[in-house]
Amino acid sequence: MTDIATSKTHAAKFSNGMHYLHDPALNKGTAFTEEEREALNLRGLLPPGIQTLEEQVMRVMGNYNRKTSDLEKYIFLVALQDRNQTLFYRVVMDHLETMMPIIYTPTVGLACQEYAHIFRRPRGVFIAAKNKGRFSDILRNWPDRDVRIIVVTDGERILGLGDLGVAGMGIPSGKLSLYTACAGIHPAGCLPVTIDVGTNNVDMLHDPLYFGMRHPRIRGEAYDEIIDEFVLAVQENFPNALIQFEDFGNTNAFRLLNKYRDRVCTFNDDIQGTASMSLAGLYSALRITGKTLAAQKILFLGAGEAGTGIADLIVTAMIHDEGLSLTDARRRCWFADSKGLVVKSREKLASHKLPYAHDHEYHPYFMDVVRALKPTAIIGVSGQPGTFTGPVLSAMAEYNERPIVFALSNPTSRSECTAKEAYVWTKGRAVFASGSPFEPVTLDGKTFVPGQGNNAYIFPGVGLGVISCGAKRVTNDMFLAAAKTLAAEVSEADLNRGSIYPPLKRVREVSWKIAVAVAEIVFDQGLAAIPRPDDLPEFIQSKMYEPVYPVYA
Ligand code: NAD
Repeated sequence: MTDIATSKTHAAKFSNGMHYLHDPALNKGTAFTEEEREALNLRGLLPPGIQTLEEQVMRVMGNYNRKTSDLEKYIFLVALQDRNQTLFYRVVMDHLETMMPIIYTPTVGLACQEYAHIFRRPRGVFIAAKNKGRFSDILRNWPDRDVRIIVVTDGERILGLGDLGVAGMGIPSGKLSLYTACAGIHPAGCLPVTIDVGTNNVDMLHDPLYFGMRHPRIRGEAYDEIIDEFVLAVQENFPNALIQFEDFGNTNAFRLLNKYRDRVCTFNDDIQGTASMSLAGLYSALRITGKTLAAQKILFLGAGEAGTGIADLIVTAMIHDEGLSLTDARRRCWFADSKGLVVKSREKLASHKLPYAHDHEYHPYFMDVVRALKPTAIIGVSGQPGTFTGPVLSAMAEYNERPIVFALSNPTSRSECTAKEAYVWTKGRAVFASGSPFEPVTLDGKTFVPGQGNNAYIFPGVGLGVISCGAKRVTNDMFLAAAKTLAAEVSEADLNRGSIYPPLKRVREVSWKIAVAVAEIVFDQGLAAIPRPDDLPEFIQSKMYEPVYPVYA
């Protein structure tokens, strides 16, 4: 009985165009034309009125605006993405400034924390440790065969929220939506992956609805074998794919980057993308302060992936552009971590901190570190809210005419200080940027529009440049070029209102320019799989997806 019923349903489905309505990549909803409805046997399966994409956007926005919480807006948008991909991207791209904080940080953080509870449909591929030995078969189950970008996490360090296990899946899938919205990477070329090696998050392990592997995180050799098998499986199934590692814990993130960066086409956005975005912000900040990069003393709070990644790129820039030696460049970057100032005399420092462990008196408290070093810039990448206290900020204002203050920890609840605190405590003199967005602040009649140091300015353009010319590797020079390109897009008007990044609504154009700059390096470094096109900007432009409906009849 069941078999007959099932096969009848299948036959019926494929003799009419129902699957066009159910496949988000094909669906046009009420925008199917008269001719298409006729040709695809859809007549009567939709309300008779035919709507344009613009009218559909209007309807979606009406519904979106009725949602009373950001999480509901997130759920609504993901459901739209599952129904009608073109409409989803049209809506997101037309309203990027309002929707970026919903489909990515900060709301995506909450969505990950609630993932098992708000789950509706899977998106992406789950590589579970229990399936070891079969990862290649699993990737073969993914329906799109021309995958160009894979964002993969193991869920250990989701934003500043820590270990969320398999619930970290919101991050790769959100990030890939940004690849498409910000740089026009075709959705069919995007694959989100979560590697489930267990979790040490006790709340998740005790949550009856948690649907990841219920055991502590696999470590050591067994973990490395899993990642090796995954990377190999990607090579077998998707040889043209760029692998972006995302939100791995820092004991693994640095190791994996160092292990694979010279073997496959890969980068780590938390380390390299953040570095590029922050360096671009510094370049803009220096236009305000009128100082050089070499004249900076930069103090980081937090010595993890973001912090040391940023410092490494700053050092590269100081060497390339201002002729400093490696030692002199590193002396301009200082770190404070959870135990205080990172200095040579400290024992058992992680290897990524060693280049920045200078000879200096040790101070356990950040306030004392600030007093001792008198930095020109403080960069918060600690995930610890409220650590840029009033006294820290006013000390920065005492030592600097225009103190540079970047509070980059995400989501908003983890920011080292708020925009308002930064401006109030420095009497409006701070050059401020944050990781998550803050509302404009008015102080003594002047309105500041704080810039969001959003990696979405960088990684989509880098990815577009890399995949457009089939780059074999991703190099640090590409991130340096991306930082310079982004900084060059900041206008005097942006700087005058306190923004050290261009408005987010320009991100597609910025991504395109970054992609061109990155592709130039790919060709110059002999890493391209194709001959250099005569008109590179035009070539890159031609690769950018636009959300417009296909015509079926
Ligand atoms: P990580 O886990 O690699 O590093 C965090 C570091 O903070 C560690 O060195 C840890 O020792 C240190 N730390 C913890 N508690 C501290 C304390 N009380 N005082 C000083 N240091 C302390 O994480 P990460 O990848 O470096 O990310 C850190 C934060 O930066 C996260 O909140 C992340 O969301 C944010 N981030 C923002 C952006 C962005 O805005 N574009 C990009 C990347 C990372």
